[in-house]
Amino acid sequence: MTSHSMRSLTKTNAFIDGHWVPVDQRFEVANPATGELIAEVADADAVLAERAIEAAHKALPGWRKKTPGERAALLQRWFDSMLVNKQALAELMSAEQGKPVAEAAAEIEYGASFVKWFAAEGERSYGDILPRQSDDKRVSIVKQGVGVCAAITPWNFPNAMITRKVAPALAAGCTMVVKPPQLTPLSALAIAQLASEVGIPDGVINIVPSTNAKAVGKVLTEHPAVKKFSFTGSTEVGKTLMQQCASTMKKVSFELGGNAPFVVFDDADIELAVEQLMVCKFRNAGQTCISANRVLVQEQVLDTFVNALKTAMEKLKVNVGTADEVDYGPLINSDAIEKVERLVGEATEQGAECLLGGEVLTDLGELFYAPTLLTQVTSTMAITQEEIFGPVVAVQSFSTEEEGIRKANATPFGLAGYFCAEDYRRIERVSNALECGMIGINAGAISHAYNAFGGVKESGIGREGSRYGLAEYQETKTLTLGGF
Ligand code: ADP
Repeated sequence: MTSHSMRSLTKTNAFIDGHWVPVDQRFEVANPATGELIAEVADADAVLAERAIEAAHKALPGWRKKTPGERAALLQRWFDSMLVNKQALAELMSAEQGKPVAEAAAEIEYGASFVKWFAAEGERSYGDILPRQSDDKRVSIVKQGVGVCAAITPWNFPNAMITRKVAPALAAGCTMVVKPPQLTPLSALAIAQLASEVGIPDGVINIVPSTNAKAVGKVLTEHPAVKKFSFTGSTEVGKTLMQQCASTMKKVSFELGGNAPFVVFDDADIELAVEQLMVCKFRNAGQTCISANRVLVQEQVLDTFVNALKTAMEKLKVNVGTADEVDYGPLINSDAIEKVERLVGEATEQGAECLLGGEVLTDLGELFYAPTLLTQVTSTMAITQEEIFGPVVAVQSFSTEEEGIRKANATPFGLAGYFCAEDYRRIERVSNALECGMIGINAGAISHAYNAFGGVKESGIGREGSRYGLAEYQETKTLTLGGF
């Protein structure tokens, strides 16, 4: 198994049918911590996206014909190769995305875990033999891979958002075209190189980096050869892409925006609640779709909780991702900083109190935002309605359990939700009442390859990871055999 350096894993062309395809048009990828140019990457257009789909289509019969065991063996090798190259992949990710190298390495492990998981799930995919309906018929249900799949992925998890789509697709016998984000295409291209090295056949995985998201997205969502489309990104873009998928009635999965409540009830273990909120909020500098966005604290424990949280937040170390001691790095770009500044600015103008932070840490650079703690936030403020995607904790209060639940659910989104409580009856009541696809109870970290990741309401459709993640890439076919 080849062991790479970050440099030898830095690929800058499109990856189609097992070949690196150069494109005259290039776009720049920069390090958000330093502004330094890292690479000039091939800018695929709609025509190249079509070529990638054709390559995936051509590769489909051969890949489909392999047994699940043969596909699993190749996926297992891909997993091994990601782990062998964990450090190089992590350095590359940190360079293009900004997250600390140790956190990037954890993402590589997490991303790779989907490859291992789905390799095994693919070998345990069964159909059904149905109860006898009449003496002259036997009915069974078989599962078949849907065919060519396409995916568009975001920049906040440059590795894992790809593996949790590609791995189940491949395990189910599908081939794939991925458009990675413009901001972080290198992590995607690097794992395509590893896939090729371990023997995943040409055309099974194709990557088309592009700044023409609209044009390439239109091809991936409307091409008749694509049978399944999977997207992770904003709700707004997701809605457009879902409409486009309707033209050919594709199977779809959408993992969209969240507005996660983190509710602290009066019976909560406050120390644990603070610890879990810190884990949940500051991973990736708050740039995750399951970050706690609205922290709702019951009045009786508000002061105790806020004081303990402030003490914990004061200890956070902000720095470049390559530093030895760092909890979080820069935000992804100046748009992200402007958004956080707007949300914090509006909130304080409308009466929120800023107990900590509230500013860019200019000593470090333009994209580093201070750990920020706001209290007296109200549900009319934009900061409680939009995804903050930054290191800002916005605390609201509530008086009764009923009010806490009502406030938590007062959003069109329903991805993750969290609450802290000790009373088991309350845990049961609140778990039932929260309108979210995933709930952390006294737990701020809820992601794992075994778990079913996904949202309800406008946060999306479908699940990734778990045994349900494989089914997203399979058709269910009923066979009625007559003539007995
Ligand atoms: P984020 O806030 O995570 O950047 P976006 O929804 O803007 O969320 O982006 C997620 C992915 O969707 C990226 O790969 C981006 O290039 C792509 N994208 C953005 N706009 C479109 C569009 N109109 N059509 C297709 N893809 C798009």
